[in-house]
Amino acid sequence: MVEVPEAEERRAAAAAHKSNMQQQETMKMQQHSSHRVAAHSNNMQQHTGKKKENSVLKLVKVCYGILPPRLGRPHSSSPSVIVIGGGISGIAAARFLHNASFKVLLLESRDRLGGRIHTDYSFGCPVDMGASWLHGVCDENPLAPLIRRLGLTLYRTSGDNSVLYDHDLESFMLFDMDGHQVPQNTVVQVGDVFKKILSETEKVRNEHSHDLSVLQAISIVLDRHPELRQDGLSHEVLQWYICRMEAWFAADADTISLKTWDQASEQVLTGGHGLMVQGYQPVIKALSKDTDIRLNHRVKRITNGYNKVMITVEDGRNFIADAAIITVPLGVLKANLIEFEPKLPEWKQSAIADLGVGNENKIALLFDNVFWPNVELLGVVAPTSYACGYFLNLHKATGHPVLVYMAAGRLACDLEKLSDESAAEFAMLQLKKMFPDATKPVQYLVSRWSTDPDTLGCYSYDLVGKSTDAYDKLRAPIGNLFFGGEAVSSDDHQGSVHGAYESGIMAGENCRRHLIRRHGSLEMLQAVSYREEILEAAVPLQISRM
Ligand SMILES: Cc1cc2nc3c(=O)[nH]c(=O)nc-3n(C[C@H](O)[C@H](O)[C@H](O)COP(=O)(O)OP(=O)(O)OC[C@H]3O[C@@H](n4cnc5c(N)ncnc54)[C@H](O)[C@@H]3O)c2cc1C
Repeated sequence: MVEVPEAEERRAAAAAHKSNMQQQETMKMQQHSSHRVAAHSNNMQQHTGKKKENSVLKLVKVCYGILPPRLGRPHSSSPSVIVIGGGISGIAAARFLHNASFKVLLLESRDRLGGRIHTDYSFGCPVDMGASWLHGVCDENPLAPLIRRLGLTLYRTSGDNSVLYDHDLESFMLFDMDGHQVPQNTVVQVGDVFKKILSETEKVRNEHSHDLSVLQAISIVLDRHPELRQDGLSHEVLQWYICRMEAWFAADADTISLKTWDQASEQVLTGGHGLMVQGYQPVIKALSKDTDIRLNHRVKRITNGYNKVMITVEDGRNFIADAAIITVPLGVLKANLIEFEPKLPEWKQSAIADLGVGNENKIALLFDNVFWPNVELLGVVAPTSYACGYFLNLHKATGHPVLVYMAAGRLACDLEKLSDESAAEFAMLQLKKMFPDATKPVQYLVSRWSTDPDTLGCYSYDLVGKSTDAYDKLRAPIGNLFFGGEAVSSDDHQGSVHGAYESGIMAGENCRRHLIRRHGSLEMLQAVSYREEILEAAVPLQISRM
């Protein structure tokens, strides 16, 4: 892999451009074959899901470094790969290829690694402003071995695998707008009604050939079953459940596809959801060790040649490698912030357009004393899901006096229109509905995921009417370009840290095979399979609140 000196840039660009003509023909063929591969691998997944999981887990072991030192250092003839994006997916891909003795360079636009994993330490304790839960506290989780090895503690906020009612009753408290606690039996009863409504939406789905939104389906169910309609306080609690559902997808119910909304809950890993007590940052730190990383390198153009890829960064410098793995967020691809030469084929562009990117924001408040009850979630119910809200009580999980207000969908976008100070005041207004005597926070933090130019959204979700193969197309390579990132993760693990991680490893593995086929290096092929033999660490996951 080379950084091209200025004098050679033009020649390199011309060479890469020339080879595009040859490549376009090849790409047409690859397009077809990659679709076939995608369709085939889907079938395989259905029939041999377990087997696939094991092989991913094996790849994971290779990647995170509990394995012995690399068999060989990259040398001048090793294939070279540029990984674009230093979130967990890019870091995983880079580590995987580094361990496979490839020459790897990771280009990251920000001045930090982690992307949508962002543990802030300015409160004097870790506060995750992006991802904070491990979804699926179990050995099958591809991140479990690393979390175990690092000795990180997980605080389990739910004992089961559900995604929509993921908090045990005794662990949350709801309040109405006047500060009265909602009786727990009302919360339970309305929770049961909500489950019935959702199961009825399945019938609505089966009756309609075209897709609808989840909200449309709920209103059809309520028209058909007036007995499921709720009034007064119960109606507000129902709205709160819808608000929680919207938080899972980071999108409003009127934009979530009815066709696929429940697949994520079916595919969720077992073991419940565990908060990373020390924050997610240690995972990023451990994974990125030994990788050649360039921060503040924003990629502006990718020239995909027949044999080489040329990457141009914001200040005009070019980097050339045999292949590239693109792990920038879907929001960045949607906004066309990276120019592709040649242009991405129409099927890839339509996959990018077909998928949605939601939004979720956090407002973290640090207090000098704890004035709230010792439960995990504090929620405010209201006549609409937009007006409902909730706080995660980090004090219960970590012992630090921090509450994190979490807002999703339109509300999350509206909060980004406010200054940090006004956003914190907004969260305090919500808090004061429950606790009129709440003291002022001593510090606050506000996230802005949908206007952050390096993310432009929170994570992907299924828009109404999305094409069924959009994820497969998004994942499919184009010549020497491979795609990773949460949105391309398989088995419906989009929008999660472990899904993003796994997608990075899979992109790394596909890239490795592609380059080995091209370079014909049997030695490199064997290097990885040898490492796959090594056993994982036998330390159990550390879980509090069993
Ligand atoms: C508020 C919030 C809460 C979440 N909660 C959870 C949770 O509790 N549990 C969970 O499992 N998941 C959660 N997620 C989702 C999870 O964070 C993501 O799925 C995952 O971190 C995505 O990783 P990634 O590597 O695919 O993308 P990213 O982490 O976004 O990494 C992509 C990287 O590309 C960089 N980049 C962008 N443009 C360029 C460019 N032009 N050139 C070079 N680099 C570029 C970015 O700066 C970024 O570092 C949450 C996300 C958010 C936003």
